[in-house]
Amino acid sequence: MDRKNYLTLLFFILIKLTTIEELTKKIVEFRDERDWKKYHTPKNLSLSIAIELAELFELFQWKTDEEIFNELASEQYKNNLSDELADVAIYLLALSEILGINLEEAIINKLQKNKKKYPK
Ligand SMILES: [Mg+2]
Repeated sequence: MDRKNYLTLLFFILIKLTTIEELTKKIVEFRDERDWKKYHTPKNLSLSIAIELAELFELFQWKTDEEIFNELASEQYKNNLSDELADVAIYLLALSEILGINLEEAIINKLQKNKKKYPK
């Protein structure tokens, strides 16, 4: 990788880090304003991810992939999908925060492991 590409990649990684950090801050702020930290245990947050995933699955239930892609033309359907994806992501970030795991670093590390495990 040449210097220009390296700096571009570094720039995008820094932008992403800031975004994930900012999102996590907003989630923590929302949680703490409602005094919900006591409910945000690793088990409860893991279950919440699974529950929100089930809500996402429900939007795909009995549909073929083609039907799902066609239905994306419906703003309502796309909004529903968007909401469920956001719910999953919110609980994932909340879980990462409570466990003290930097999700950005974890993803980068896991991608590196996957590259070694599944070479081109
Ligand atoms: Mg939901």
